[in-house]
Amino acid sequence: MTPATDRNLQLFERARHVIPGGVNSPVRAFKAVGGTPRFVSRAQGAYFWDANGKQYIDYIGSWGPMILGHGHPAVVEAVQKACLEGFSFGAPTEREVELAEEILSLVPSMDMVRLVSSGTEAGMSAIRLARGATGRNKILKFEGCYHGHADALLVKAGSGLATFGHATSAGVPAEVVQHTLVLEYNDVAQLEKAFTLHGKDMACLIIEPIAGNMNFVRASIPFMQRCRELCTQYGALFIFDEVMTGFRVGLRCAQGVYAKSIPGFEPDITVLGKVIGGGMPLAAFGGKRAVMEQLAPLGPVYQAGTLSGNPVATACGLATLREIKKPGFYEALGAKTQTLMAGLKGAADKAGVPFSVDSEGGMFGFFLFDTLPQNYAKVMTTDNQRFNTLFHGMLDRGVYFAPALYEAGFMSAAHTDADLQATVHSAVEIFNLL
Ligand SMILES: *Cc1c(COP(=O)(O)O)cnc(C)c1O
Repeated sequence: MTPATDRNLQLFERARHVIPGGVNSPVRAFKAVGGTPRFVSRAQGAYFWDANGKQYIDYIGSWGPMILGHGHPAVVEAVQKACLEGFSFGAPTEREVELAEEILSLVPSMDMVRLVSSGTEAGMSAIRLARGATGRNKILKFEGCYHGHADALLVKAGSGLATFGHATSAGVPAEVVQHTLVLEYNDVAQLEKAFTLHGKDMACLIIEPIAGNMNFVRASIPFMQRCRELCTQYGALFIFDEVMTGFRVGLRCAQGVYAKSIPGFEPDITVLGKVIGGGMPLAAFGGKRAVMEQLAPLGPVYQAGTLSGNPVATACGLATLREIKKPGFYEALGAKTQTLMAGLKGAADKAGVPFSVDSEGGMFGFFLFDTLPQNYAKVMTTDNQRFNTLFHGMLDRGVYFAPALYEAGFMSAAHTDADLQATVHSAVEIFNLL
């Protein structure tokens, strides 16, 4: 392909004149890996086609939502029907109630849920709710966990544990992040010290239980248990950001995974997004009744949205949830993910490339390390050049993994054994070059 015939390149150049960086969300720009982003013209099942008509096996699935694969017939039908009934009313609908009931029946830690339009909005609202409900200001998060781009959450660790964080974005005043404490993921000693120092003032602790924004890193069981105990002891609300993991790692979400090892385990507030919209703008946050009743119009914590509970988005989400509830869905999805991970690991081993893999349900991560990393600092020591060689080698062979070493990967129900085999076959070729 020459520059004169590469439609992706032409579109990227056009896009850069009218959209900052040519993209509407930064990671799409391929800045981490170099090269030209693929402009998607259409998608079906486990595949998408770029502007040059080249086909890819899609392991991103819109960063998680497309768990059924693209264009699932039952979802398409539900969306088409909803479109004919109206796009948006700014008034309540039966479908919102149905979706809320469906979500609550699957996630027992929540008594009530509010629907919003993005994970950012849900996370931001959950923090405001936690502050309003506790009457406290301070919040605690972990390095490498992403909770959307609300001002107070765009923070990295300060110079020492007892210090509060620094904004990671221009345009965020220091005053806005002065109450945000950032700790290392999976570090129990730091966690305990932070609660000893600030526990009485802590409104909430927010965590990605299985972090998907630093590739794929699990919170260890003892760490998770200690988070829960300390929140309870100090009266801080424990917020599970399951925007990525919710209905992605299992039908009971990541909290269901942890409840298997920690009996009775529950977060206080859960934040959902991605899968619950099935590819449409839809997210949610929910928790116990007493906390949720602090929200307007019942309580003093304001929260609102013109398109919240949008009738087309809720139709898409409901149809998606009804498919993933079917018996055996997660067993089949998890088996595919494990087959792929085992295949990649086998290929790396044969080529003598240090490699480690982890997965849960339809979410996975792989690393150019012998052992799985436990925190963001370790993930970021990945050899960039080798990762980029791997990424571009796979891309050339029609396999679309995340264009950054700090992102997770996603399997869909539409991926076939042949897709997995083709992926591993390509990996064998690349690993021999690494
Ligand atoms: C994607 C994501 C968000 C942000 O959701 P948007 O819909 O992109 O605003 C928040 N938290 C986590 C864990 C995510 O993966």
